[in-house]
Amino acid sequence: MKTQLLQFNDTDLALSGELIRNGKLVAFPTETVYGLGANALDVAAVKSTYAAKGRPGDNPLIVHVYCKQQIYDIAAEVSMAAEKIIDNLMPASITVVLPKRNIVDGCITAGLDTVAIRMPSSAQAREFLSACNVPVTAPSANISGRPSPTTWRRVKEDLDGRISAILCGDACKVGIESTVLDLSGGTPLVLRPGVVTPNQIEEILGMPVTVVTDPKSKVNSPGVRYKHYAPKVPMALDLSGDTQKLTAYYDGLVKQGYNPVLLVERPEKFGSRNAVCIGGNDYEVAQRLFENLRVLESRYDYIVASFSSTTAYAQSILNRLIRSAANNII
Ligand code: AMP
Ligand code: MG
Repeated sequence: MKTQLLQFNDTDLALSGELIRNGKLVAFPTETVYGLGANALDVAAVKSTYAAKGRPGDNPLIVHVYCKQQIYDIAAEVSMAAEKIIDNLMPASITVVLPKRNIVDGCITAGLDTVAIRMPSSAQAREFLSACNVPVTAPSANISGRPSPTTWRRVKEDLDGRISAILCGDACKVGIESTVLDLSGGTPLVLRPGVVTPNQIEEILGMPVTVVTDPKSKVNSPGVRYKHYAPKVPMALDLSGDTQKLTAYYDGLVKQGYNPVLLVERPEKFGSRNAVCIGGNDYEVAQRLFENLRVLESRYDYIVASFSSTTAYAQSILNRLIRSAANNII
């Protein structure tokens, strides 16, 4: 299959909408990461998403919408809490899990009776979704397990020849995936941390939320079970920011014959060793994280990342880093 590269103009936007309505897969930019769009009302199109990505069939997809009415079209029940989030936060980098209507096929929800819904804030995502004029399922537009793509070039790297088109928009501003908030039961549960923090959600809801990110936890999001965000080379993660410890670890790897790289807050502290800046603040770290991993895996054979921020947002970055490093915390 030839993958068309489409631009952000009226003709190509209309074409991307037409492709989606005709059951094709189109990758598109959002503020979090690039998504792989399919018509949520077309079962064959949705199923082809799993094949294109190599995604396990029991990892449900998020349905993307551009207006609030579409949420009511696919959710069977919108609780008061959900209404507060919809009215006060959306559009935003948050996904809400709600009871689903029958119109939402089980292949989207991996057989669950709930559906995950998101209204992106990025103007380009909204223009695309509005051109589609149907709800659009969209997981990240990468091969399953790889770091998520934050530019259209990274989408091409993974999915060229496997999807109909890539809508070539801007680089993603947030850089990590949305916060997933389950509002289908009595207690609000954060299933995946993101840029919208539990505190912000609690303020809007006026009640406590529980953060459930332990992969072994019974109440969880199917997707958190899988290998995720992994670079092609081994990776270790330090949470102390201790220069001496990192230096010793790096030198040990060199002795073993590796050509490692440090992904750290202050690369200048490591002299002539290979060292790259992870970002000057949490927002920058998140924005560059997946791109950093993809650049470094092509140049070095061992990544040693260090991240010691303890802010609320840092928790979502840590969640990604721990999984990129396959839990190899030093
Ligand atoms: P991705 O598309 O890679 O960003 O992953 C989507 C995330 O949303 C995964 O972690 C899924 O487990 C989660 N998700 C999607 N639908 C549901 C649902 N109905 N209930 C719980 N989690 C969901
Ligand atoms: Mg993904």
